[in-house]
Amino acid sequence: MKFGTKAIHAGVEPDPSTGAIMTPIYQTSTYVQKSPGNHKGFEYSRTHNPTRNALQNSIAALENGKHGLCFSSGLGAIDAIIKLLSPGDEVISTNDLYGGTYRIFTKVFAKYGIKFHFVSMDKPETIEKYINENTRLIWAETPTNPMMNIIDIQALAAIAQKHDVILGVDNTFATPYLQNPLDLGADLVMHSVTKYLAGHSDVVMGALVVNNDKLAEDLAFIQNSCGATPGPQDCFLVLRGIKTLHLRMERHCQNGKTIAGYLRNHPKVDKVYWPGFEDHPNHEVAVKQMSDFGGMISFTTVGDKQEDAMTILENLHYFALAESLGGVESLCGHPASMTHASIPREERLKVGLTDSLIRLSVGVEDAEDLKNDLAEALSKI
Ligand SMILES: *Cc1c(COP(=O)(O)O)cnc(C)c1O
Repeated sequence: MKFGTKAIHAGVEPDPSTGAIMTPIYQTSTYVQKSPGNHKGFEYSRTHNPTRNALQNSIAALENGKHGLCFSSGLGAIDAIIKLLSPGDEVISTNDLYGGTYRIFTKVFAKYGIKFHFVSMDKPETIEKYINENTRLIWAETPTNPMMNIIDIQALAAIAQKHDVILGVDNTFATPYLQNPLDLGADLVMHSVTKYLAGHSDVVMGALVVNNDKLAEDLAFIQNSCGATPGPQDCFLVLRGIKTLHLRMERHCQNGKTIAGYLRNHPKVDKVYWPGFEDHPNHEVAVKQMSDFGGMISFTTVGDKQEDAMTILENLHYFALAESLGGVESLCGHPASMTHASIPREERLKVGLTDSLIRLSVGVEDAEDLKNDLAEALSKI
C-alpha cells in the first residue's frame, strides 16, 4: 500500500456490529465478561480500547512498523521509553533538543540515577566516544528545533547496532510522510501526535512505533502500568486527522518552499534555516533520508535585534503567535524568549539561536496570503 492509501485505510476496518465506515468512539471504561476471564480481548480501557487500537495500528502502518502504542502526550511517550532503563544506565542525546524532552531527562530522570550526555550529532561518528558499557539509548531528533539541523539516521543506526544500543528517533517534525526512521535502522520512533499527525491543533497525544516484539511488550507493560493513555475521543480525532496527512504534508512542503525562498530574497532577512536549500550544511543527508523538506522554517533579521523580532511577531496576522506546530493554521514563535528561554544566551548564540530568530510553522493556507502577511510585518522594521 502506498502512503496516501495507508493514511486512509491502514488499521481501520468498518465496525463489525453495524458496518459504520468510521471507527466508533468506544467511550467505555470497562467491558462485560460472560464469566471471569471469558471476554473478547477487552477488560479495561487503560489496557485496551478498540478506538485506540485502530489508531495504534494506523500509526504503526504509517511508520512501516509492527507495533504502535499511543500515550496521552508526546512527553508521556518519552516517559515510557526512559522507564525501560534502570539506575546507572546512560543515554546519549542530541544537544539541539525539544525543551520538554530536555526537561524530563534532566529534571525528572537524572534524579533516578540515569545519566544523560547531550552532544552534537552533526557528525555521528563523534558520539562513539560517549559510548560505554552502561549506554542503553541513543536519542535523536531530526530536523532539530529550531535550527533545522539534519542528523544522519542511518549513520547513527550503524553505531547503535555495533554497540548493541537502542536508537530512538523523535520524528515529530518530519512525520512518517517525509521520513521513516525504522526503515533507516532505528529501533524506536516517537511522535508528538499533537503536531502534524493530529494536524488540527485540537489534541495533545504521543505515540511510539517499534518492530521488535520484546520491546513492544515492555513498552505496552509500561503503558498499562503507568497509565498515560489517551481517551477514545482524542483517538478518534487523530484517526480523522491522519486521513488527510499526506494532503496536508504536500501543501506544508509546497508552502514551506515558497516561504523559505521568499524570506531568503528579502533584504531585511539575514539567515533562513530550511533543509531544502542546497547550501544547508546537511542538505545531502536530508535528500537521502527525507522525501521532501517540510514546512518548518527559522529565520533571523539583519542586525539581529530582539525588538525587530517582536515587531514582526506582533504584526503578523495569519501566522498566529503560539507555541506548538504542525496544524493547518500557520504559527510563529520567538524561541529565545519562548520555547528556549531557559537556555543561557551564550549557549544559544553558539548554535545560531540568536535574539532575532523567528520560527515559523507554515500552515496550509494560500501561500500568496502568507507571503503578503510576512511582507507587511517585515515592512514595520
Ligand atoms: C511537542 C513536541 C514534543 C512533546 O510532545 P507533547 O505532545 O507536547 O507532549 C516532543 N518532541 C517534539 C519535537 C515536539 O515538537
